Amino acid sequence: MLQTLNSRSFADPAVHAQGLYINGQWEEGTGIPVVNPSTGEVLAHVADAGVEDAMRAVDAAHAAAAQWRATSSRQRSEILRRWFQLMTEHAEELAMLISLENGKALPDARGEVSYAAEFFRWYAEEATRIPGEYRHTPSGSHKILVDHEPIGIAVLITPWNFPAAMATRKIGPALAAGCTVILKPASETPLTAYAMARLGEEAGVPSGVVNVLTTRDPGPVVNAMLADPRVRKLSFTGSTGVGRTLLAEAAKTVVSCSMELGGNAPFLVFDDADLEAALDGAMIAKMRNAGEACTAANRFYVQAGIHDAFVAGLTKRMAALKIGPGTDKETQCGPMITQKAVQKIDQLVTNALQRGARATTGGAPLAGSGYFYPPTVLENVPADADIAFEEIFGPVAPVYKFETDDEAIRLANDTEYGLAAYIYSRDLKRAMRVGKALESGMLGINRGLMSDPAAPFGGVKQSGLGREGGVTGILEFMEAKYYAVDL
Ligand code: NAD
Repeated sequence: MLQTLNSRSFADPAVHAQGLYINGQWEEGTGIPVVNPSTGEVLAHVADAGVEDAMRAVDAAHAAAAQWRATSSRQRSEILRRWFQLMTEHAEELAMLISLENGKALPDARGEVSYAAEFFRWYAEEATRIPGEYRHTPSGSHKILVDHEPIGIAVLITPWNFPAAMATRKIGPALAAGCTVILKPASETPLTAYAMARLGEEAGVPSGVVNVLTTRDPGPVVNAMLADPRVRKLSFTGSTGVGRTLLAEAAKTVVSCSMELGGNAPFLVFDDADLEAALDGAMIAKMRNAGEACTAANRFYVQAGIHDAFVAGLTKRMAALKIGPGTDKETQCGPMITQKAVQKIDQLVTNALQRGARATTGGAPLAGSGYFYPPTVLENVPADADIAFEEIFGPVAPVYKFETDDEAIRLANDTEYGLAAYIYSRDLKRAMRVGKALESGMLGINRGLMSDPAAPFGGVKQSGLGREGGVTGILEFMEAKYYAVDL
């Protein structure tokens, strides 16, 4: 067991700021400041990896690969299960760490830790159920056997908004499949990743199977890894813009890509919806992580008959939220990740207000230390305002009025994204009909939360490629091998 696990508080940022984790070794380094967005203060510094460090990580992942893929799936399962248990035992400290470096309110951070740990439990179970096939050819000439093999070394790149869950959603299936990995977390939130690596070590993950490196300059570092023929998988979660760049880079060595990209989720409320349920769902879909979620409701389309009551109810609930540092017990809405994020939200809201929208609560950034934007509701937003097409990634709810189902579907689909969508209606047939017409990888029907490790998570259009979680998530880290067999 690592000394630090017992000797100092696991939630202390300094404990996890010791540098890169390569081949089971912790290396010194201090190049990247990690800032607490609630205060603007520096929490700790972590190492700034260069291309050489990345290549050492690939060497380590390669050296560990043969032995790891040869382990029984039961062994891999048990390691993941222990990792799940350790995350659960350290849940409160991990939540505190997430809240410190990301700013999210503690209840959101606790929810994330639980969600994140569940990916290890789920993939501990899935590791022992890797499917194969046996088929007859139609001609009768031979038999078809299909095996699934680990794809090889996987580079995992994660965003800052779910520092624990986006990592476990990739590490879990990769390890279950028999792959070794290099995780590159976002430089805004590296401490959680390093903390989890410590727990992985404690759970018995062999040296080199999981490597973690942080860098200020991800382009060259990631490109160098993708150019190495030993790397066969890129699993990326982040913005659509960076995803496009990485797809182009991966094309050079034809690396298999899974892409979990941006979203612009429509939230449809029909006249026949249960208003209170729709408001409850709206608050979850909008305000989980203060709106910093890829599945966050980004556009509220509300039918004319229920529109005014919905706006009034949402305004009341949003205005009542307690804003403050993520780690404060009372806080319901923490800060944004950076000042730049606040500026982007401000620009989108200002543009909407100039185009005729009205803020029924909020509507301007908050002064003082920390990166705060207040919960905001906008009504009378023009359908072609900038805010309708861009990820807000903040606590702003623009509401648009519609008359007919067809109009709602047309407006909802008017985006390059297709990750999540929400529908509130008491008429399930109508909800399913509208749901079928929506271009979206995931649909919440009378539910404001859809994330579940047992379900396939992912988007259509420019929201991504592939699915994480569910029964197919493990196959993203495997290749099918077909044996033509003459029995
Ligand atoms: P981002 O695209 O800026 O960064 C994501 C990761 O990519 C970070 O680790 C970053 O360091 C790295 N990166 C940036 N430029 C790179 C480059 N040129 N080469 C290699 N790596 C590079 O995204 P973000 O701001 O950290 O996260 C927010 C975005 O993530 C939003 O668009 C959100 O919708 C999306 N997201 C999607 C999902 C999903 O499951 N679909 C989940 C969470 C977040």
